[in-house]
Amino acid sequence: MPLRALLYRRPSEPQAIELVFDGMMYLVRLSRHRRARRYTLRIHAATREVVLTIPPRGNVKEAKSFAERHGGWIAGRLGRLPEAVPFAHGTVMPLRDGRHRIVHRRAARGTVWREIDDRGNRLICVAGDTPYIGRRVSDFLKREVKRDLETATRRYAEAIGVKIKRITVRDQSSRWGSCSTTGVLSFSWRLILAPPFVLDYLAAHEVAHLVEMNHSRRFWRLLERLCPNMARAKVWLDVHGPDLHRYGAPDPRRSGTGRISDISDI
Ligand SMILES: [Zn+2]
Repeated sequence: MPLRALLYRRPSEPQAIELVFDGMMYLVRLSRHRRARRYTLRIHAATREVVLTIPPRGNVKEAKSFAERHGGWIAGRLGRLPEAVPFAHGTVMPLRDGRHRIVHRRAARGTVWREIDDRGNRLICVAGDTPYIGRRVSDFLKREVKRDLETATRRYAEAIGVKIKRITVRDQSSRWGSCSTTGVLSFSWRLILAPPFVLDYLAAHEVAHLVEMNHSRRFWRLLERLCPNMARAKVWLDVHGPDLHRYGAPDPRRSGTGRISDISDI
């Protein structure tokens, strides 16, 4: 194999190609993979991203024709996914226990704040120019979730006498939370979109891993004692969890590993 074939991407190659199918335009991200044996298409359900893997000896022209041959598959898969909901003026979205509407207040001072209008509707108000709404709402939600998680994890850590090193909030599509061997707890910011008993369960789950770094019977017994709502939260996540991935613009830096559909050329 020539050395240059080992490179993930050649400098002259585009990062993505546009595919037109049935009058619709789809963006297909190209990803060179040195161990790929063939052209492969994947759709990341959480981010709605279409990724085409190119094998080392492949090229963009062939990739494009592969994507074109599978235009129907791409359109069909994307069409079956629930619609993405961007953070924009008028968007109705869940936040903790209730539905909120995003309202753009361009000329107002400040960045993002919550309000209740005359009719009792809960609002997330955003100041500033239109292009910044999505970013501002997403930053606001990450701050909120971090505060909730800090409170919840501290409570559980005190209850079982452990110390948390640090909490990080990420946009991970594959997991709601994780615990590293160094004691760092990571959570998905999307937990702020779920009812508080769900966030509490995830907080308890990761704190319990500071005692039991596994999913043994002892772990579940400890967790049940910490979080009586465990069963209810697990059911809620199974039923409603995937829906939370519809909200907000996907983070382009993420290498989504969530629910994936794929097709390959044989
Ligand atoms: Zn776990």
